[in-house]
Amino acid sequence: MISKEHIIKRFVSYVTIDTESDPTSNTTPSTKKQWDLANKLADELKSIGMQDVTIDENAYIMATLPSNVKHKVPVIGFISHFDTSPDFTGSNVKPQIIEKYNGKDIVLNKAENIILSPDYFDDLLQYKGQTLITTDGTTLLGADDKAGICEIVSAMEYLINNPEIEHGKIRVGFTPDEEIGRGAHKFDVKKFGADWAYTMDGSQIGELEYENFNAAGAVVKVKGKIVHPGYAKGKMINSMYIAQEFINSLPRMETPEHTDGYQGFFHLHDIHGNVEETTLQYIIRDHDKKHFEARKEVMVKLTNELNSQYGKEVIVTEIKDQYYNMKEKVEPVMHIVDIAEEAMKQLNIEPLIKAIRGGTDGSQLSYMGLPCPNIFAGGHNFHGRYEYVPVESMIKATEVICKIAELTAKKK
Ligand SMILES: [Zn+2]
Repeated sequence: MISKEHIIKRFVSYVTIDTESDPTSNTTPSTKKQWDLANKLADELKSIGMQDVTIDENAYIMATLPSNVKHKVPVIGFISHFDTSPDFTGSNVKPQIIEKYNGKDIVLNKAENIILSPDYFDDLLQYKGQTLITTDGTTLLGADDKAGICEIVSAMEYLINNPEIEHGKIRVGFTPDEEIGRGAHKFDVKKFGADWAYTMDGSQIGELEYENFNAAGAVVKVKGKIVHPGYAKGKMINSMYIAQEFINSLPRMETPEHTDGYQGFFHLHDIHGNVEETTLQYIIRDHDKKHFEARKEVMVKLTNELNSQYGKEVIVTEIKDQYYNMKEKVEPVMHIVDIAEEAMKQLNIEPLIKAIRGGTDGSQLSYMGLPCPNIFAGGHNFHGRYEYVPVESMIKATEVICKIAELTAKKK
């Protein structure tokens, strides 16, 4: 079987390369340093024996494992992203290996007293006795989504080394910039040439997802007027107060910290302001298409109301759709979810089918013609210092990939 040491070594070799993406950049990849890992991955795919390994000018990597059966089998793909989130630093990652986790607090960083505790992160308790990989408390880990990459590469290697396992043609795709919402943008679905694919980009063991948010971003610009404060009566317009009104007019409980499951939200994630101008940045999320449209409408109406109240165009709101719920595209081909579910069951993994509170490369790819549910990669607490991944979950995810390949070849 796939050895723990082998998985750990491969994973560590990925996370110690900084690949943080940058939403303010217009290039692809958004940061040059993503090439460091991209080039390494392309070389590694070749060295394990993958065919047609390509890396394009935007750092998208594709590779093929040819079919080893005579009958016709649908071409399936596995996709992961190699960038890490700009929410937290990914430079100088120093992974720590915790063998036989005892279910107690893990001191990530003694000097700074940073503790990963099951009192707060109770998911930890389900991994008692397992091998965990954590950060040293000062960076994120990058299991999102280098665990996924590690699993796909390891699964391909396993299938190559065990040719008695029958499978059809398998395509592998690694992308930059998923964390800034651009992972799928320059993905050449036609060149990839798969009938369907899976992103290995979920969290906890067993996760299988084919529903995600509908997503939009909104930039609200409030224009004020600066006048000497001593002579401002009736003249000054303080954009910050109007911005505050805008913020307070949206439902306070429909925010990320007060919602879960299928509940949508408005999320104010940035304010920049002075008297003259204040800019608010929101994201809008909802699984339900109608509710999603209604949320956008609420923002437009609020903008109009405040503008008419102030008698001029003090607020300009720009809303842009980002991605949509893949459910619409996956439901007509539900067998692709069924195969993944069956693979998990055969490996004694309890499938956890739930709606993603976010998006994946797969949601965009599904709308580009490549139906693409999401499967667990094993990590927890993404995008921050408490991120960790159990090695056993990575091995299971690797086995799921192999099993899906096997089941797809068996299906007539
Ligand atoms: Zn991810």
